[in-house]
Amino acid sequence: MEEQGGAGGVRLDPWGTLEVKDYDRLRRVFGIRSFSEVIPALRELGFEPSLHMRRGILFGHRDFDRVVVEGLRRGEPVAVLTGFMPSGRFHFGHKLTADQLIYYQRVLGLRVFVALADAEAFAVRRIPRREAIRLGVEEYVANLIALGLDPDKTVFYFQTNRGAPYYRLIQLASGRVTAAEMEAIYGDLTPAKVVSALTQVADILHPQLDEYGGYKRVLVPVGVDQDPHLRLTRDIVDRLSGVVELMRPASTYHKLIRGLDGGKMSSSRPDYTIFLTDPPSEARRKLMRALTGGRATAEEQRRLGGVPEACTVYDLYLYHLLPDDSELLRVYRDCRGGVILCGECKRFAAERLLEFLERHQERLAEARETAWSIVEPPSF
Ligand code: SF4
Repeated sequence: MEEQGGAGGVRLDPWGTLEVKDYDRLRRVFGIRSFSEVIPALRELGFEPSLHMRRGILFGHRDFDRVVVEGLRRGEPVAVLTGFMPSGRFHFGHKLTADQLIYYQRVLGLRVFVALADAEAFAVRRIPRREAIRLGVEEYVANLIALGLDPDKTVFYFQTNRGAPYYRLIQLASGRVTAAEMEAIYGDLTPAKVVSALTQVADILHPQLDEYGGYKRVLVPVGVDQDPHLRLTRDIVDRLSGVVELMRPASTYHKLIRGLDGGKMSSSRPDYTIFLTDPPSEARRKLMRALTGGRATAEEQRRLGGVPEACTVYDLYLYHLLPDDSELLRVYRDCRGGVILCGECKRFAAERLLEFLERHQERLAEARETAWSIVEPPSF
């Protein structure tokens, strides 16, 4: 649940267990604009929207038009940056962000930056450094490459290894915000979380510095639970004016895919989360036990139809397993019309899932070798 107490009685916690029931309400409360309004501008420039854009999974944005669309229109360089906290295995929630990065790289030609948030993993989850580094390279970088991110066009870095200008940004940011303002955005904060939040400000802003490419236009695609970092960063950009000239970043927000019991998909809930390294038999076992939107009996389901909106198997189709819209529509109609029952539907989903996992895992061994050769692990 969203925590109470922030804007409009709602506060987002980037380190919490957010389950959102009403995305439109979140958009209204936090002044996030609907993503659907910028799709025509992308089409005008000759770009087909991604699967996540056209299916409404990417539901909101800040300044995507001003920063990204305008940059593309003028032929100016645009970068996209996102971060992963290496605190567990790479799962289908992470793949959602990965697919967006791959789209931006391949279709829009953006430069990609991936932060491996090892400082945050230690500060917030107490993940030992060596383990955070191993997870960062073998789980995150390797899976991103195996999914199709081009390592030659991507900058992967660890937060604790990024160099002096980056740390200087953390220091500058720390002088431009008060404890009360941070509390208003995040709620109660430990010192470790304060440092984490300010480090994320540096992550978001540092591609703009000449030392890191000087990309003034930066897009940050995240799950909506990460919006507090964007709000903090945008405020700090304005306050740094005259010291260092930066542009407010754009951001997009995606809906969060649910775990197989309808709760949060998370590495800490392995029974309800499908990892991209799960042995296929294990992934199948989890899927066959997933919560569906089916009725109590087969007779009832044939008569009333299922409820795909309440079904975690349908989520997998929608987000990942059925890129073809006509196939997705067929499943939706068959479910609604009671033509298909959940057992058969799950078996079909499992087939698609296993096909994907087997292909992906074949690529993963090689991607791991590449990952270790291109990322510089922190040395201390
Ligand atoms: S038929 Fe398929 S989509 Fe419909 S509720 Fe059952 S598992 Fe979900």
